[in-house]
Amino acid sequence: MLTVEQALNAILVRARARPARVMPLADCVGLVLADEVTSDVDSPPHDKALVDGYAVVASDLSDGTARLTILEEVVAGDVPTMRVDRGTATRIMTGAPLPDGADAVVMVEHTQLPDDRQGMLEQVIVEGQAQPGQNLMRRATSLARGQVVLRAGRRIRPIEIGLLCEVGRTKVSVVPRVKVAVLPTGNELVPADQRPGPGQIRNSNGPMLLAAASRAGTEPIDLGTARDERPDLEGRIARGLAADVLVLSGGVSAGVLDLVPGVLAGFGIETVFHKVRLKPGKPLWFGVLRHDEGEKLVFGLPGNPVSSLVCFELFVRPAVESLMGRAAAGPRYVPARLATRFEHRGDRPTYYPARLERDSEGAATLEPLPWHGSADLRGLAEANSLACFAAGDRTYDAGDAILALPLE
Ligand code: AMP
Ligand code: MG
Repeated sequence: MLTVEQALNAILVRARARPARVMPLADCVGLVLADEVTSDVDSPPHDKALVDGYAVVASDLSDGTARLTILEEVVAGDVPTMRVDRGTATRIMTGAPLPDGADAVVMVEHTQLPDDRQGMLEQVIVEGQAQPGQNLMRRATSLARGQVVLRAGRRIRPIEIGLLCEVGRTKVSVVPRVKVAVLPTGNELVPADQRPGPGQIRNSNGPMLLAAASRAGTEPIDLGTARDERPDLEGRIARGLAADVLVLSGGVSAGVLDLVPGVLAGFGIETVFHKVRLKPGKPLWFGVLRHDEGEKLVFGLPGNPVSSLVCFELFVRPAVESLMGRAAAGPRYVPARLATRFEHRGDRPTYYPARLERDSEGAATLEPLPWHGSADLRGLAEANSLACFAAGDRTYDAGDAILALPLE
């Protein structure tokens, strides 16, 4: 049986980044940039005022106060028409271009208009001294035309969307979103809006895995729910194979109705592994379907909801991150210290629902939560992470080092 690391490697070598495509910026949030981006402008495009006030010659204020003649008013979007020489000032608003000759901006709060009627609107009294360069930003301080502003590999957040707009890029080359089709299986499943009859339970995994796929930045595809019957499974799997990744839940254990691996084999999907040394999640099945443009990945997650979710976090999420070009795809473990004593029993590494907190000194502490095993989704719902206990019986003391896997 493969270890978690071996299983993950077997997946990631088959999950190389998909080819890049040029896409409109509005569709790119969460995607990875495939080319570097250079600027076609200086930013700011001109020396600009950072406050509302007056553009002045700083040396006019060396005495600490001055009465200056107002030349004109410039708001953002205007272009100044007059040069500011000694004894003059231009009323200027935030973002507006600095007039030639001026080398500082004085905040309007540090000025007053003269009381005498003659001076009103024509002169301004400035109080306090000014340093050259104050309250203004020089042209190209933020970025210069021709400069590389983003490199390939950068994940596009709203910040990058703003920056790309600043440099005039409304289309960029990105690794596209992968399609993840989700198919829960089981005769016992009823939709969540129905009351289960005798022997039935509601379908938690379908909506949970669709939501997880969506949170991972993929395009989720809902294949409905399959009964444990070959024709129904075959019809839905055939549809699912149009996606990049097919995620099934249930039907991969040793029960008489665990038909999934056999039906997948009928599609020519190659088994890469079945079963991983892990708890919960041991029955995990993984295979690939080779086709002209590469490989489609197929995951058969165990039916128990906690197992399904843990396997998604450990294996499916890293796979889709890698397909979508994200560097260092893989579970991101956090070193922590156990908050309480914990008795671990069992010969498989165990991913146990836990709460990860920062103590008053900022150190990460991890508290395993009450949990009743792979069917106990309610117990998992109190968790914000999984505590990773190594295989083997061991009593852990409070303060012992432990790895945590944060859950989104
Ligand atoms: P299986 O792997 O198909 O044997 O399922 C293992 C356990 O998980 C059984 O108790 C199933 O009823 C349960 N289960 C399977 N699929 C789901 C699902 N979609 N939602 C909730 N529980 C499920
Ligand atoms: Mg089943």
